[in-house]
Amino acid sequence: MNILVTGGAGYIGSHTVLELVERGHRVVVLDNLSKGHRAAVGGIEFVHGDTGDARLLSETFKKYNIEAVVHFAASSLVGESVQQPAAYYQNNVVKGLALLDAMVSSRVLKLVFSSTAAVYGEPIEVPIMEDHPTLPTNPYGATKLAFEAAMLWYSGAYGLRYASLRYFNAAGADLAGKIGEDHHPETHLIPLVLKAAMGSVASLAIFGTDYPTPDGTCVRDYIHVSDLAVAHALALDALSAGRDRAVYNLGNGNGYSVLEVIRTAEEVIGKPINVKYGPRRPGDPAVLVAGSGRIKKELGWRPRFADLKSIIETAWLWHSSHPAGFEK
Ligand code: UDP
Repeated sequence: MNILVTGGAGYIGSHTVLELVERGHRVVVLDNLSKGHRAAVGGIEFVHGDTGDARLLSETFKKYNIEAVVHFAASSLVGESVQQPAAYYQNNVVKGLALLDAMVSSRVLKLVFSSTAAVYGEPIEVPIMEDHPTLPTNPYGATKLAFEAAMLWYSGAYGLRYASLRYFNAAGADLAGKIGEDHHPETHLIPLVLKAAMGSVASLAIFGTDYPTPDGTCVRDYIHVSDLAVAHALALDALSAGRDRAVYNLGNGNGYSVLEVIRTAEEVIGKPINVKYGPRRPGDPAVLVAGSGRIKKELGWRPRFADLKSIIETAWLWHSSHPAGFEK
């Protein structure tokens, strides 16, 4: 299939591009490089531009005979979204709608969307299933949910077929060691823990020790980025086979606290990590753990990296060999 991947130069996007190419698809990446890295998709057909650019989209669909889109391009930081909701509505909703409209006009009607556990907000029960109420507690989750609603209505009226993948905490790196996580600034727990171990940040701040969890720190469900990548490929196959709409959670179903992540990283690296205890980060729910039974049952998805240690090992492989990320 000819597939356009928006935001394909980003962390999850570039791992998905790799998976799609390995499966024999022809992939074109559209990325404005505001966050992504050109080096993450070396050798892949690349269009430098924005999902809000309707003309560029219709030209790209035509030029490459695009049959499906995987849409990653978005702003994705919870804390930043609370400070700058306008940017999140602009990037994630307004530009997203431009993409949907261009797809409908060009009759490109298959879409896999990069959604998030942040659509659920504070869970009322865990593991979280797809039919859990969606009450986001920050603009990031709200804008992803708004785009999901648009896909639903576009599917009824214009024949769009879509799968929305709600990821829990993506982590790790491709085993070949050529691509990995490289955000500027880095805000995510696992890369920051590894950077603290390497001395490129002085210490790791633990955001809150008074949560209602066994050790007082937040519990999250970490899922390997290559397992996420496979889920996108399976979702595309399902759309091609005639599936018209689907929403899937993606996690391992195991929760690990911040302290457990730090302890596991110390075990992988073989040295202690310097930590500081700090206050809670606004907008963080205490526990997020996925129920991913639906995608397992319907698409046969199975995580290859089901435990935290194996996920951190792959992240460490990338970070220890690329201390300056893609700039090396
Ligand atoms: N966290 C932390 N210190 C950091 C970064 C994150 O204690 O420097 C915690 C954060 O509060 C959350 C968990 O680690 O409970 C995962 O955060 P991350 O930003 O990696 O992902 P998110 O859950 O926001 O998607």
